[in-house]
Parts: sequence; C-alpha cells; structure tokens
Amino acid sequence: MVRVRFAPSPTGFLHIGSARTALFNWLHARHTGGRFLLRVEDTDLKRSESRFLDEILEDLRWLGLDWDEEPLFQSRRFDVYRAKAEELVAAGKAYRDGDAVLFRVPPSRTVAYDDIVHGRITVETEAIKDQVLIKSDGSPTYNFSCVVDDAHMGITHILRGDDHISNTPKQILFYEAFGLEPPRFGHMPLILGSDGSKLSKRHGGVSVEEYKKEGFLPEALANYLVLLGWMPRDGREVVPLEEIVRLFDISEMNDVQAKFDLQKLRWINGEYIMKAENSRLLPLLRAQLAAAGQDSAAATDDRLSKVLDLYKVRIKTLSEFPAMTDLFFRDDYALEPEGLKHLEKPESREYLAALADRLATLSAFDHASIETAFRAFVEERGLKAGQVIHPARMAVSGRTKGAGLFEMMEVLGRDRVVERLRRAAHG
Ligand code: GLU
Repeated sequence: MVRVRFAPSPTGFLHIGSARTALFNWLHARHTGGRFLLRVEDTDLKRSESRFLDEILEDLRWLGLDWDEEPLFQSRRFDVYRAKAEELVAAGKAYRDGDAVLFRVPPSRTVAYDDIVHGRITVETEAIKDQVLIKSDGSPTYNFSCVVDDAHMGITHILRGDDHISNTPKQILFYEAFGLEPPRFGHMPLILGSDGSKLSKRHGGVSVEEYKKEGFLPEALANYLVLLGWMPRDGREVVPLEEIVRLFDISEMNDVQAKFDLQKLRWINGEYIMKAENSRLLPLLRAQLAAAGQDSAAATDDRLSKVLDLYKVRIKTLSEFPAMTDLFFRDDYALEPEGLKHLEKPESREYLAALADRLATLSAFDHASIETAFRAFVEERGLKAGQVIHPARMAVSGRTKGAGLFEMMEVLGRDRVVERLRRAAHG
C-alpha cells in the first residue's frame, strides 16, 4: 500500500511551494487508496512554534488535504534517533566525535536512483563528506531523523522540492547502512515567480495565508497548484480536485520549471467563484467588506446575494468585491473622472431629471420593467440609447463600466435610483 507523508517544519507559515508538495503527496495517496501522513519536523526546538503548526494544519484542512493517522512529532523521538545512531556505531558504520555521532560515508561508490520526476540520478560518494547524524547537543540532523522516521512510518514514496535533491543520496546511504530498501523519491522543481526569480511577495504572495486573505477559494488554489507539476492529458486547466484524484498519475509528473502565473490563478479563481453557491460566498464577502472598512451589517443576506449575482462573473478574487460594489452600500462612492463628461452636459441633466420622474411612477421596479420604460423614454425623445445610458450609469453608480445598468437599478431599488438621478441632474 502506498504510504506518503508531508513533513513540515513549524518554523513559519505554509509556503505555497510546501502546499504544492503536500498536495501531490496527498493526490498520490488518494489516487491509489493509500495513506497520507503528517510528520512534524520540530527538531529545532528554538525556532519551532505551535502557532505555526496550528496555521499549517489549518491551511492544509482549508485546501481540502485530510490526513490519516495521528501526526508524528520528531521532538518526542530524540531517544529513538540516538539509539538508531548507536546501532550504526556498533556496526562500525558511524563513529563518535565528542558528543556528536557521524556517519562514515563509504568511499568510491556510486549512489543511483530513479527520480520519479527527473529520471536517473547518480552521485559519487567521493563528493560526500562524513555526515553528522546526532549533533553534539543531542539533537538529530534533518537527514538522519528523516530516514529513521520514513522507515518507521513505512513510507513508500517521497515527493518533495528540488531543494532536497542533494540530501537524497545521503539518505539512501543511511537506508543501506540499516539494510533497508529506500522508498521512491521524486523532486519537484521549485516554484519561481513569473519573471523566473525566486517567488516573493511581489509575484502575488508566498504563503497560503496571503492567498486566503486575498479571497482565493481553496479549490481554485489547489487546482492551480496541481498545474505546477501535472496536467490532465486532455490539457484542461479547470479541473476540480475530486476529478484530479481520479486522473492523477505520479508517473506523469513533469519536470518543467514551474512559474507562478498569478493571472492564470486569478482566472481559475474566477471560474470557481462563478460556480460557487452564494450561501457559501456571503460570509466570505462579509469578511472582505469588513476588512475593507465597509459595514455590511445593515445589508441583508438577500440583498448581498443580489449584488453578488451581478458581480459573480466579474470578480476574480473576493477581495475585489468591496471596491466594485461599494455603490450598493453607501451613497458617498467615488465618481470615475473619465465619466464626468457624461454628467456635465446640460442636456444630460435634463434627461436625468425626466428619467427620474418616469422611473418614480413605475409600478414594478424589476430590470425588465425599467428597461421597457427606459427604451420608451429614449424613443419618445428621438434620442440614441447611449445619450441617456452613459449619464444614467454614471449617476447611479459613479462608474462607466460594471454590471448591466437595469440590473443595477433593480438591486439599488427605486428610491435610491430616483434620488441619485435627481442629485446628478442638479449637478
Ligand atoms: N522538513 C523538511 C522541509 O520542510 C521536509 C523535507 C522532506 O520532505 O523530506 O523541507
């Protein structure tokens, strides 16, 4: 049975690259009906903090990555590592140097393995110096505790970042020294920014937390992260995680440089927002409104939901919602400078005043009735629709673009529309 693991060090937030590592291990487990395990690599007692671990676990859950079995904590296993190191000392494969224990790297050997992602990799042991297993403070090194635990946990496949590629031959030597079969290894190219440099905040963010705050949906982020390492054969890009679980094949992982493309992620996020239930998005939008300093308490779910219907196809992240929709929740929204010309024409003012009077008398204020009244109004006056639409749109929304004018008017409601048209008419 496939057993894979994700082994975060709780010394910081969950990096987007680590999230991808977790995701691919999880996919392999779920695709094969195997187990996905967690190991907390908290051997650095000074830098490890429980708040980081809490965040990491929360982010994994948020992304939909569930794990099997209780996580293993390395900080509770120092005795085991020391005992394992003693085994190697007793077998003549390691030696003491003061309080430290070092592994004797066999000379003139070639270590070779078939990397799941990169193919055959060979390394000469001449290039590897003796390896510390236990440091003089009694704590294990990463390479040693990693092997002891991967063996203990029965790990069959290890997918991790390319930054570990130089560790793998050393780890393989430890497996040999214990007389154990090493697991299969696969190293994924590091995620770079769109310009090919190290991923940083200016490329969109480095931690999962930042994307969550920006209003990316977890299924969109997970879907996008998968594309940085694997593609379905038919080339589709928007593929829900459940489907990826079915289609994924570890042997199809690619070794292309993974460049983080924020525009693609935003597009994918927009696709998931469009499909998401309003009831699910409303609390998230209220949080975004609050973060933007907008009080949405007075807006009922029903009203917020109607505004959402108008903007669901337009927003790419939930954090775009407050600025785009402030006109529904307040009257002091900004006027787009490019649109002012539509309001400044004297004839526009007259049209708006007359349109306000007309709309005030409508018996129903749904978008179809508004549109019928509007079309009749421009026709009677022999005007082109645009001559009234542009000033009216500016008057009720302060913007030259956005949702459909009549749909916006319906959601704003008659009183607000009439009042805004009259306000613009009076300059
Ligand atoms: N704690 C290591 C890291 O976060 C784990 C590496 C591994 O998967 O072996 O990079």
